Amino acid sequence: MIDPIAKLRSPRGSLVSVYINRQPPATRAALVDLLKGLRNSHSDFRLLKSLKADTARIVDMVGDIDSSNAPAVAIFASSDDGIFEFLPLTHPVADTATLGPRPYLRPLRSQPRPMRVGVLVADSTRARTYLSSGGTLAELGEELIADRGKENYGGFSGYEEHRNRQRAEEASKEMWRQAGRRLLEAHQDQPLEMMALVGRDEDFDSIAAELHPYLRELPQARLRVDISTVTPTDLARFIDEQTEELRTRRAEELIERVLAEAARGGEAVTGLKDVLEAVNAHAVDHLVVAGPFAKPGVICDDCGWLGRSEEQCPVCEADTFQISDVVAAAMDATVEAGGKVDVVTVASPLDADGVGALLRFRLGG
Ligand SMILES: [Zn+2]
Repeated sequence: MIDPIAKLRSPRGSLVSVYINRQPPATRAALVDLLKGLRNSHSDFRLLKSLKADTARIVDMVGDIDSSNAPAVAIFASSDDGIFEFLPLTHPVADTATLGPRPYLRPLRSQPRPMRVGVLVADSTRARTYLSSGGTLAELGEELIADRGKENYGGFSGYEEHRNRQRAEEASKEMWRQAGRRLLEAHQDQPLEMMALVGRDEDFDSIAAELHPYLRELPQARLRVDISTVTPTDLARFIDEQTEELRTRRAEELIERVLAEAARGGEAVTGLKDVLEAVNAHAVDHLVVAGPFAKPGVICDDCGWLGRSEEQCPVCEADTFQISDVVAAAMDATVEAGGKVDVVTVASPLDADGVGALLRFRLGG
């Protein structure tokens, strides 16, 4: 979804990027305000003319925004360059508008990444399997039933009772393995990031033991509940909580790695100045941005060089463009160069630096 948008270019800097939450009946007023603010912060006559045309066209979209199911939308427009893109979003955004040679993608890159979770709802006699992906829960196959035979052992000898019990246990294990195979298929189709086991505490370890090692290695969440009364809504809520926790845990680990590596002078840097230098050197493997951290800066649209205030690009000598958020431009450049980007929302010591990066190689100098 981001890729074709990321390639949009406006050589004269007239590309408008707008992010707006659907907020009827106030969407129109919010949009008009946002674009007025943008007009007031620019003085170039030619830009203002182009912005006026785009403003009219963007405000015309209010009906489409208010009637869509999406909580927010993004619009990218430049009448100068024949660009007009309308993109529904899955999560709310901060209302934002920018003008520049390239699209403003930070709100898009900050939307939580959807996670794939394999869900196994089971006890010793029944099992259901689900795949949760991007907030939707889909059942995989039909309910499985274990044929545990006669469970009442009254009147059998001790030996027979033992044999029957073993046979019943084997039937449950076979059912759990079968459920596990469905989830393994989903995992091989596209990797799962978490497994959720739903049922009785006393079954969990036995169920987990029957899963393929690939599934057993995943983070595992366990919901203790009566499976005859659990609803899809209960499952969805549980998965939401657990994926949110996993995101937080991963963010904390990532920040710890960046800070530890930077502290020992290894392959990581922190702070905007060093991060921009690393981005310009195509050295960033994983950029980590602390929440809303943003700073104005400049970009050379010819070669992509990023700086804080230089009017001319030190690499190719072209004039630079002022941009309101050079951190966002660093995120774009990192992704373009094949690296990863995470916007983390947990409070951490990285908040003081605002930004940090794991590097592909140590920078000289
Ligand atoms: Zn340049």
